[in-house]
Amino acid sequence: MARYTDAVCKQCRREGQKLFLKGERCYTEKCAISRRGYAPGQHGQSRKKVSEYGLQLRAKQKTRRFYGVLESQFAKYFEMADRQAGITGENLLQILESRMDNVVYRCGFASSRKEARQLVRHGHFTLNGKKANIPSILVKASDVVAVADSSKTSEKIKAVVETNSAKPVPKWLEVNREQLTARIVELPKREDIDLDVEEHLIVELYSK
Ligand code: SF4
Repeated sequence: MARYTDAVCKQCRREGQKLFLKGERCYTEKCAISRRGYAPGQHGQSRKKVSEYGLQLRAKQKTRRFYGVLESQFAKYFEMADRQAGITGENLLQILESRMDNVVYRCGFASSRKEARQLVRHGHFTLNGKKANIPSILVKASDVVAVADSSKTSEKIKAVVETNSAKPVPKWLEVNREQLTARIVELPKREDIDLDVEEHLIVELYSK
């Protein structure tokens, strides 16, 4: 399976903001954005006028990297969003938020989406009581995501949940930290999604 292999923090530096790709490190002074908050590479500190296309491309890349989704999958999500009723950009963000790995991360059952993806792949979660080891599964309202019974005693999962217990959970999710379960109250609206991006730029990019 294709995957991103370059230094993770470079993605944040390229987008000029924290994308929270590395869990706990993102909240410390070791964060590369705090230390070198400019784009990577020889010309990273030079100021250039960004074209309209450049702005659209950056909006798409930032969103794709935030959710850790590869190009082809992102394009498929855009097609899905475009076919749905409503505002395409908002539909797109809702689809991305509905991914199983994102839900696990948002619930505080993992410290980053990358870690969530790995935990899901390793079979540590169920969806509506059934094994769910595909990170890209899309959840629906009323679905229940839970740590699998066989993983409830895992020291690693207990430690992650403890570490993340102070982090806020979005209101579209109802988390029970004792039972290690979460219910999708409703799918998120745009105002529930904390991604600083102008999604209409992505729509413009794909509409060319
Ligand atoms: Fe991004 Fe986290 Fe690296 Fe900071 S530590 S640059 S937020 S991945």
